[in-house]
Amino acid sequence: MYKAKAKSAGGDSSAVYDVRMTGRAVGRLDLESDLRLALGRNELSLEYQPIMDVATEMPVGFEALLRWRHRDQGLIMPDTFIPIAEETGLILPIGAWVLREALRQVQEWRRSVPAAENFSAAVNVSGRQLVAKDFPEIVEEAILFSGIDPAAVHLEVTETVLMDQPDLPKETLQRLSRLGIGLSIDDFGTGYSSLSYLKWLSARTVKIDRTFVEELGSDPHGATIIELVLGMAGSLNLDVIAEGVESKVQLSELRRLGVRHAQGFLWSKPMPPAPVPSWLTALTAGSPGQEPSPHVR
Ligand code: C2E
Ligand code: CA
Ligand code: CA
Repeated sequence: MYKAKAKSAGGDSSAVYDVRMTGRAVGRLDLESDLRLALGRNELSLEYQPIMDVATEMPVGFEALLRWRHRDQGLIMPDTFIPIAEETGLILPIGAWVLREALRQVQEWRRSVPAAENFSAAVNVSGRQLVAKDFPEIVEEAILFSGIDPAAVHLEVTETVLMDQPDLPKETLQRLSRLGIGLSIDDFGTGYSSLSYLKWLSARTVKIDRTFVEELGSDPHGATIIELVLGMAGSLNLDVIAEGVESKVQLSELRRLGVRHAQGFLWSKPMPPAPVPSWLTALTAGSPGQEPSPHVR
């Protein structure tokens, strides 16, 4: 059929195009139905990336990052399946599981690893979750279930999601802030937040997007934007975390600028939970200035 169609169109290229399109649509449908089963099949897991104190290069907490080990396709990264989860609404049960599991895991480290006693737990949250009526209860339940101090919980919401949800229930934000948890604005600099908006959200942290950190040391504009964010954050009393730090040059630039916290492959890639306690122990046992080798997948 495709061949006949292509011939009448006067070439082969349209036939190839049609077949590819169909293949993609089928692949997407498969992923969608497989994602529905992924939770029950225990195919979802979390990896943890440390958030570091820039001055001491010691961790202050972990961000939980979702992974999907598909039975046939192997590891699928969140950028591929989170959009599907958001469109289908599957992000609601998946997101509730992420919250519960991440808080449980970080609290376990807080209890069992001395160096982790005051660690924070950062969890990514989609817009779809944030506007769900029962979201504050889900957060509260996860906190109670884990026994973690609510002040150690940071929900990360991207700047663009916040801008896209003008009717974000004010009640949700009030209830979350009454719980005592912190809100972090993720990928900061990629949207166009106004300062008043940040204040209204009662955000506690902004995370400077990786694209600005990447430019440090090469493009002077990178430093300029970070300086602007720092100025704003200072006057609003917000903590700043720089994302995607990969080199010593970037680290020393961040130090010079006065950024307090950072994350990146320079210290560690996101790691599965099992090696985390020994990674932490090696850090505290190491002599000053000596670094553990970054975790390699
Ligand atoms: P994000 O929240 O901005 O997470 C940071 C991403 O940057 C992670 O990718 C992390 O592995 C990567 N990264 C960290 N340090 C470096 C570095 O030094 N260099 C480079 N090149 N990359 C670095 P990942 O794990 O693939 O996650 C991608 C995005 O998926 C996240 O971006 C977040 O928006 C979303 N995501 C992940 N887990 C969840 C989740 O549980 N729920 C929701 N709603 N979204 C999630
Ligand atoms: Ca994040
Ligand atoms: Ca980010």
